[in-house]
Amino acid sequence: MALSYDDVVAKYEPVLGLEVHVELNTKSKMFCSCATEFGAAPNTQTCPVCLALPGALPVVNEKAIESTILIGLALNCKIAPYSRFARKNYFYPDMPKNFQISQYDEPICFDGYVDVEIETEDGPKQFRIEIERVHMEEDTGKSLHVGGATGRIHGADYSLLDYNRAGIPLVEIVTKIVPGTGKYAPEVAKAYVAELRDILRGLKVSDVKMEQGSLRCDANVSLKPIGSDVLGTRSETKNVNSLRSVERAIRGEMIRHAELLNAGQKVKQETRHFQEDTGLTRSGRSKEQAEDYRYFPDPDLVPVTPDAAWIEQLRAGLPERPSVRRKRLQQEWNVPDKEMAAMINADVLDIVEETVSLGADPTKARSWWLGEISRIANEKDLPVAELSIKPVDVAELVSLVSKGELTDKLARQVVEGVIAGEGTPAEVVAQRGIKVVNDDGALMAAIEKVCAEQAETAEKVRGGHLPAAGALIGAVMKETKGQADAARVRELLLKHLGQG
Ligand code: ZN
Ligand code: MN
Repeated sequence: MALSYDDVVAKYEPVLGLEVHVELNTKSKMFCSCATEFGAAPNTQTCPVCLALPGALPVVNEKAIESTILIGLALNCKIAPYSRFARKNYFYPDMPKNFQISQYDEPICFDGYVDVEIETEDGPKQFRIEIERVHMEEDTGKSLHVGGATGRIHGADYSLLDYNRAGIPLVEIVTKIVPGTGKYAPEVAKAYVAELRDILRGLKVSDVKMEQGSLRCDANVSLKPIGSDVLGTRSETKNVNSLRSVERAIRGEMIRHAELLNAGQKVKQETRHFQEDTGLTRSGRSKEQAEDYRYFPDPDLVPVTPDAAWIEQLRAGLPERPSVRRKRLQQEWNVPDKEMAAMINADVLDIVEETVSLGADPTKARSWWLGEISRIANEKDLPVAELSIKPVDVAELVSLVSKGELTDKLARQVVEGVIAGEGTPAEVVAQRGIKVVNDDGALMAAIEKVCAEQAETAEKVRGGHLPAAGALIGAVMKETKGQADAARVRELLLKHLGQG
């Protein structure tokens, strides 16, 4: 019998540590001029430097340094006037040099923080996540294991290597340990990664596509008995690549650790891999210590010494913070707190903003994305952004409803059609033959039928008791399968009953 999450947090206190890798969107790689575009044919974006051929020498990409400083500034970090690259030595076939150029004891940015807010039982609550360091490094290539059932190396017949990604600039953002989140640990971690993503997007330094791996999170989790100040042993779940998975992976690890501890067993310090289908993690390799990597300063690269005036210039140009942007949008759109929290939680803020920018009324745009569309997304177990309905479709839908060409009910059928891939709202309307019944003759026929069936109610209305009309209008709408304009039905009905 698996332990419940409530049992876990009644007894243990989680401690988090989050490492996020971000691929920068520079045109060229970190130490050579190869292109970085995603999806090119394997091994077409390589050169002697990123393939580590003898005698090839790296040269630092200035734009990558600029992007990293921007990230550090946006995360309230100090920027080191002098830092160095180091070699991190280990073997892996997708890493041609057999070391990764990274930064070790001299990161370019350090000592920052990010504040995140989540919705708790006692209302919104803020948590400060302290940032230990932000450093630069290069990405590895990719291995593709062929022939096995799972895409893993075990059971594969052979492996293919693609070095296009080798040498793409990466920034690693490492938090200090995050204590004190209690039962909200999974939500806080998710909110932190979401906040980072929004900050990075605002800085325009990365395309932050978690599903393509340009933003990935390693989640360290340990448990200690409540009240104890001795840290437990941590596990590190690698490369979690969606916001929802960050939350699920941490929750799952907390339960797994608690089950081990309750059984008197030890948690092993190791890396683990998150499995999307089950929400569980499986064991990876046992965790090495920093000293195993034999870091040393890279003798091929000069130290990074950014000019103070340049740093101040970058600071002055920082964009609006996501938290400030959220407050501004909430005011502009006149959204109650609870609804705003719901929008952030459902991750639809960008989508709603885009819909509004296409001319839709903010309240209507919000209610479509948070209501019907979110409901379908939940049913399909997909994030809203991955459905085939786009802001331009919702803007069109809102416009069709406000012009009276669709009722709300018909518009819901159109949403369904767009999500099913039947085309734009106008195309769905045309193909499905959806239209508002505004032929008064057809409406009158339905009204007469309903008034005959509910003669008693009709009599009340005739006698001047107008609230009773609601039931009749509802019945007419049902009779016309939701295709009638309710306002017109009301008008005709009241006139028919001598109240118009
Ligand atoms: Zn190259
Ligand atoms: Mn790293």
